[in-house]
Amino acid sequence: MFDLIIRNANLPDGRQGIDIGISSDRIAEVSAKIDAAAKEEIDATGRLVSPPFVDPHFHMDATLSLGLPRMNRSGTLLEGIALWGELRPTLTREALVERALRYCDLAVSQGLLAIRSHVDTSDPRLVTVEALLEVRDRVAPYLDLQLVAFPQDGYYRSPGAVDALNRALDMGVDIVGGIPHFERTMGDGAASVEALCRIAADRGLPVDMHCDETDDPMSRHIETLAAQTIRFGLQGRVAGSHLTSMHSMDNYYVSKLIPLMAEAEINVIPNPLINIMLQGRHDTYPKRRGLTRVRELIEAGLNVSFGHDCVMDPWYSMGSGDMLEVGHMAIHVAQMAGIEDKRKVFDALTVNSAKTMGLKGYGLEKGCNADLVILQARDPLEALRLKPNRLAVVRRGKIIARTPPRVSELLIDGRPSSVDGSEYAPSFGG
Ligand SMILES: [Zn+2]
Repeated sequence: MFDLIIRNANLPDGRQGIDIGISSDRIAEVSAKIDAAAKEEIDATGRLVSPPFVDPHFHMDATLSLGLPRMNRSGTLLEGIALWGELRPTLTREALVERALRYCDLAVSQGLLAIRSHVDTSDPRLVTVEALLEVRDRVAPYLDLQLVAFPQDGYYRSPGAVDALNRALDMGVDIVGGIPHFERTMGDGAASVEALCRIAADRGLPVDMHCDETDDPMSRHIETLAAQTIRFGLQGRVAGSHLTSMHSMDNYYVSKLIPLMAEAEINVIPNPLINIMLQGRHDTYPKRRGLTRVRELIEAGLNVSFGHDCVMDPWYSMGSGDMLEVGHMAIHVAQMAGIEDKRKVFDALTVNSAKTMGLKGYGLEKGCNADLVILQARDPLEALRLKPNRLAVVRRGKIIARTPPRVSELLIDGRPSSVDGSEYAPSFGG
């Protein structure tokens, strides 16, 4: 007797017609046919059942603050930074908690059940840290939230940042952040990478830095980050977020850099929506895309996972908490058009991100946490194309969100009475 059985599921690895048996908060059986009863059953009707989406790079202290204290009229990064500077001193714990909880509601409804959020530690009040630590506790039953101490105004550039970052870690923030390309000189940037990796090694914490988020081909802090990772024995525990300068680097240099990154087991986190919006702004034409070298990094064996980064905040007025929107953009900007390419993009929104975050018990194997999402699509490729409704979201064996299938009524004589976009792939034969 199971607590829940999901029947007739298609899995991301291509298996079809699979039953998933859940006992308490764990997956107890995954097989072609489970001959047993359950307290509750869901017929997935040949739809895709995936482990939950995972966002390895987000800013939950800024999300949903769009329009506060005013709109970003130019849509540029610089006006966004200025806006955040105006908003930051006025932030209250209550308002931060409220917005973050609201975003987590949206995330859950989209099957997004784990998020790594950077937290700006630049304001010495650390009200952002207090708020997000509270949110981390409050959402824990339904969403895994990891926090990164992020010295947004620079670790050395901003007075008081060194002390504030240490206090944030003392308060219980999980991960050491950084922003070396924003320091005043290349030398300061490199020194910040070394200092922050040392802190991580001393405290036994992971590292996740905003690194080389610039179009400057000479912004090469990822090299320093990889080298310091090896020096401090942090292999596999360090993430480089953005790495957009790699787009513009000399090819010979990159041929030397990527093997170093592989040796350091750097987790690579591009943010396709933000990168294509913000990079190349100083170019006339041709304009660079600015996304890091996704295909080459995957081929070199690096763990690549995509982040959403921003949703309706001073930097980015778009976004919906849907990781498939992120993957959809990645396919286009990184030109990941092949069948295997798209499967890799789906992995970058799920298993790879779970690896980046070090999530335990993630996956659809027997013994894993009973966390999953049923999509109104047959397979990962169709999911990326349609960004379909999440029919059900399950966390630790309990259904925590449901969305009806999207079906339109059609009122044209002589034509079908309804349209379900998920049945339009030609291989359906319809
Ligand atoms: Zn970011």
